[in-house]
Amino acid sequence: DKPNEPRAVRATRTPGGLFADVVFDRPLDHAYTYAVPAELVAKIGVGKRVEVPFGKGGKATAGFCVRVTDDEPTSGYEIKTVTRVLDDDAIVDEHLMKLTRWMADYYLCGWGQVLHAVVPAGVRDNAGTRMASFVEPVPRESLPNPLPTVTPQQKAALDKLKKENRPLEILQLARLAKCTAGVVSGLIKKGLVRKFSERIETEASGAHESAESENAQGTDEARKEIELNADQLRVWKPIGEALAAGGYHPFLLHGVTGSGKTEVYLRAIEEVVKQGKEVVVLVPEISLTPQTISRFQGRCGNLAVMHSHLTDAERGGYWRRIATGHIHVVVGARSAVFAPTRKLGLIIIDEEHENSFKQESTPRYHARDVAVMRARLEGIPILMGSATPSLESWANAEKGNYTVLSMPNRVASRPMPAVKVVDLRHEPKAPGKPGAIGPTLEAAMRQTLKDKGQIILLLNRRGFSTHVHCEACGYVAQCANCDLAMTFHRTKNSLMCHYCGFETAPFQKCPTCAQPSMRYQGLGTEKLQVEIEEKFPGSVCQRMDSDTMSKPGSHQRVLDAFRDGLIQILVGTQMIAKGLDFPNVTLVGVVNADVGLHLPDFRSAERTFQLLAQVAGRAGRGTRGGQVLVQTFTPEHPCITLASHHNYNEFAKMELVHRKLHKYPPYERMARMIVRSEKEEAAAAFADVLATAFKEAIRRAMSTGRPSPEAPVRLLGPAECPVFRLNNFYRFHFQLQSDSSAVLHEVLRNVLALAKPPHGVEFQVDIDPYSM
Ligand code: ADP
Ligand code: ZN
Repeated sequence: DKPNEPRAVRATRTPGGLFADVVFDRPLDHAYTYAVPAELVAKIGVGKRVEVPFGKGGKATAGFCVRVTDDEPTSGYEIKTVTRVLDDDAIVDEHLMKLTRWMADYYLCGWGQVLHAVVPAGVRDNAGTRMASFVEPVPRESLPNPLPTVTPQQKAALDKLKKENRPLEILQLARLAKCTAGVVSGLIKKGLVRKFSERIETEASGAHESAESENAQGTDEARKEIELNADQLRVWKPIGEALAAGGYHPFLLHGVTGSGKTEVYLRAIEEVVKQGKEVVVLVPEISLTPQTISRFQGRCGNLAVMHSHLTDAERGGYWRRIATGHIHVVVGARSAVFAPTRKLGLIIIDEEHENSFKQESTPRYHARDVAVMRARLEGIPILMGSATPSLESWANAEKGNYTVLSMPNRVASRPMPAVKVVDLRHEPKAPGKPGAIGPTLEAAMRQTLKDKGQIILLLNRRGFSTHVHCEACGYVAQCANCDLAMTFHRTKNSLMCHYCGFETAPFQKCPTCAQPSMRYQGLGTEKLQVEIEEKFPGSVCQRMDSDTMSKPGSHQRVLDAFRDGLIQILVGTQMIAKGLDFPNVTLVGVVNADVGLHLPDFRSAERTFQLLAQVAGRAGRGTRGGQVLVQTFTPEHPCITLASHHNYNEFAKMELVHRKLHKYPPYERMARMIVRSEKEEAAAAFADVLATAFKEAIRRAMSTGRPSPEAPVRLLGPAECPVFRLNNFYRFHFQLQSDSSAVLHEVLRNVLALAKPPHGVEFQVDIDPYSM
């Protein structure tokens, strides 16, 4: 059986009619066929939702219609009937049908699950809309004969309606004609006015706000026409040609921080909008700041900004306005890749290397990879940009799959900031209390503050103390639900699990040995802020991490204050490393570059390099220049030396050699499977069942002779996950690797068919995994 191939259930006793294949929000790999009753034949259609009896007891269930055919299913079961068609118009068009079908096959989940995730809840339940009753005059030829008599009030209302020359809602007409709704009802009863219903948008959908910026004023700065410089013109040329020619064409724009990539995007957007087509721009959620958005506003026609704080109704409203062609440019995070545009002309992905494009729940897709597939299916160019491209994209470029465009210099000949690596092993002991900020960094900070510059300090770890343990017996404070150490948060005065959010009061005495020997060690942003405030009492220091930035708008308030010079020192996690463009930042400090460098994850070097390169890019963006200080215990690590020389190309070359040698992506395809259950034995037992299924599936795949003996399918596991118990689930994992995506998928499909998890056990498949 091929996945998602419609399979008829129950019999075929409906001669002559239509049949609809329906998929549900379940991890099912095939569609179900239903008969379409005569009264729904005109209404049924691909991309609409239907209500059908499904499962045991034939419970009324909503699903998506994915195919309509007059071919009678040939199996011998009784066939059931579509109960209702829930949408007047298809809510998923032909292009998105193809894309979601591909996702179901590639990410090995149900097509219905993908459709369910792609169509916002506000569209599925029509949030932000209501049914409205309209009236219009009955045309002359259909008027009753003889004409009924009318009251003066009815005559006035009828005249008003004729004068307006458009359908009005009943209450609207009553208001205009200063009469009651009863008067209008009288006209309907007498056959002089015709009533009809239509679904319309309400205020809640945001349809009436100025987020669509047709007339909205971008800032003057945003509206200013910027002439592309020589580098930008050079990379623009092939993009412009591809847009004129049409057709699939992937570009990888590799431009250092501040090289003017965004201006190139804007130029491309203007061109596509001029052609009467639409653009989808994917950016990391964190970059959806008013600063970024105002650059797009005023240059882009009607703009929709899709961020995570939208309500269901607003999301639904955008979906409908995009689908009806009222929006020209969609800027958004991950899920904007599914924007239901009518004539998509270009997809842009800024910071294409960002991990936040990977979704960590079903469907576990990567928005960049989905975007590339969408561009291919729709036959359009796609422009991916980054200062530190992902090694997947870089390898694709080297293979000739993507066209590389490079901008190695900052605009206006501004130099890249000088990076100084500070070896923490040889830092002289600071006088007084030792802290996280060594003497070299401290001196640079003092000088910067004296010169009225601003400072960004990166520490990619939140909380106050990250390691809480007992010196007497070795007890480590651990989460009650997870095998994870708890972090002490001083502001909240609690111990917290950063995974599941479990909180408990801190303790002075060890809960195991009852000695007063608990030690609070390890450095987080909270403790760093205290140290800064002690060392620089005359300056304002603001912390920016997910603890301080949880409320919508708080991010922007801090950035505005920083821009206005009310804050001198901004300290934070990776949140502050990305995208910020503050010309007065002349010093960037990395407090501990080694955080994250030695994690058991084949991408840890790549991530560290990206983070260092990105945060260094925050310095010296203005005319005053800037410098970067990187504190580390491993100054000789190539990741750190190459980042300090802004040498992406060399880093990519070196890291790709390493990946190839150790058979990691992008040279091998990888899938990670997790078995989890709240019962440890149940998880372990099913992991064993799976291990057998894997062996069988791999044997079958090898027997086809397709995976060569030199490049076999390799299976690791089952093994306990590095964090065995997470959120009360016991977890085992497998890792499957092959140099052929087709073989990898074949093995996984066979395994999914061979081994169904029992009740209480879950089995998750993650293709191209990002979290290890
Ligand atoms: P990137 O996206 O590569 O980090 P930006 O497009 O944000 O770079 O450009 C960095 C800064 O340089 C911005 O303030 C931008 O307005 C300015 N800039 C970009 N291109 C030009 C240009 N051709 N002439 C003058 N200023 C420019
Ligand atoms: Zn936990």
